[in-house]
Amino acid sequence: MISPVDGAGIGVVPGCSVEDVDAAVSRAAAAFETWRHVAPGDRGRLLRRFAAQVDAHLEELALLEVRNAGHTIGNARWEAGNVRDVLDYYAGAPERLTGHQIPVPGGLDVTFHEPLGVVGVIVPWNFPMPIAGWGFAPALAAGNTVVLKPAELTPLTALRLADLARDAGLPDGVFTVLPGRGSVVGERFVTHPAVRKICFTGSTEVGTRIMAGCAAQVKRVTLELGGKSANIVFADADLEKAAATAPYAVFDNAGQDCCARSRILVQRRVYDRFLELLEPAVRAFRVENPARESAEMGPLISAAHRDRVAGYVDGADVAFTGSCPDGPGFWYAPTVLLAGSPADRHWREEVFGPVVSVLPFDDEADAIRLANDTEYGLSGSIWTRDVGRAVRVARAVESGNLSVNSHSSVRYWTPFGGMKRSGLGRELGPDALHAFTDVKNVFIGTEE
Ligand code: NAD
Repeated sequence: MISPVDGAGIGVVPGCSVEDVDAAVSRAAAAFETWRHVAPGDRGRLLRRFAAQVDAHLEELALLEVRNAGHTIGNARWEAGNVRDVLDYYAGAPERLTGHQIPVPGGLDVTFHEPLGVVGVIVPWNFPMPIAGWGFAPALAAGNTVVLKPAELTPLTALRLADLARDAGLPDGVFTVLPGRGSVVGERFVTHPAVRKICFTGSTEVGTRIMAGCAAQVKRVTLELGGKSANIVFADADLEKAAATAPYAVFDNAGQDCCARSRILVQRRVYDRFLELLEPAVRAFRVENPARESAEMGPLISAAHRDRVAGYVDGADVAFTGSCPDGPGFWYAPTVLLAGSPADRHWREEVFGPVVSVLPFDDEADAIRLANDTEYGLSGSIWTRDVGRAVRVARAVESGNLSVNSHSSVRYWTPFGGMKRSGLGRELGPDALHAFTDVKNVFIGTEE
């Protein structure tokens, strides 16, 4: 592996074979028979201990991510903290996983939320720690065992988390990390009959393929896929705040964020003023060695990805750019493009880099039409001082996670996921456990 920060080698992690996966799935299936029967309070206690281990190693995990993925140290600390918080949050769940008692004639009817068995979690490279945690924490809390495949480029923190789980006392086979190729390890999760659910985050292309593979076994699947989210700025908004925060909504994690607000829609009568305010905010965005406390953005994940991102800017109308370091490392400066029309490639496709496209709109109906003119529907922001408009537009935009006068997308207390081709199912929040269980209905006859 190569560090995106300076191009230096940072070691080799051998990939697992199909035989390795089969052996791990057998261990996980055997462990399930014990884990599902661990008393709810004890299962919760083990997850809290796992959370405490993560907390005690937070700085170590964060530094590993700075090196492996080029994340800023501030972000990486948040990411490790998010794993801890998600574990703590779902540690309360085993004791609250209640069913219903349903009034029926002739007996007693009750429902149970039964764990599925072995769950396969497949993680992309852009947020290796949080996305792993959003899968494994609720899956384990619900009584499943987990096999997890990190992305080829970023396995280090997931491997460390597996050590910490063991140190916390999770029994053998309950949580196993299997690094390796998507076409080997990931595919085997999909085809292995003992893996009862796939929880996949990654590209829409691979997710579509995984869903088709799961269909063959009617395997449960949650998909968190790509995005091309809109940041809609109405003329009555706090323009200064909207412009000052817009760079963070798209350039955070160097734009390698499925929720990146990579399309800015600005009402025509404030379009010029908004760009005037946006320019200094973009120029001031601090792109530097991500280990520095002041860094707001680090490098892209790889040289190949940088080439792909640059391909969207070639020939496009560049309004202005920020700056980035020269020299080794996969750096790319924050870039603002003016879209000529909604047909522009950079307006339509997920760039997954620090590139944002801006387009004017005329009125509310026009803004909604343009925002929805995409196959994706993950996230988005609405800037207006008119409460009625905020609610109307939030209801009309076909997207799973919207924020008004804010760019917040991910809070572990609330559901997260996409509409349209951005995904299927929801993670996080109070209901995520139900994505890792099947409802069982039991009727007990009481008639003599
Ligand atoms: P990717 O789809 O290439 O890979 C994701 C994971 O799937 C990796 O672990 C990879 O090894 C594995 N994989 C690849 N081929 C596979 C196969 N045939 N079978 C099983 N597994 C396979 O995505 P990426 O490039 O790592 O990540 C970027 C994408 O992820 C972007 O499109 C981004 O929008 C999306 N993403 C979505 C969310 C979300 O929550 N909606 C969050 C983060 C990233």
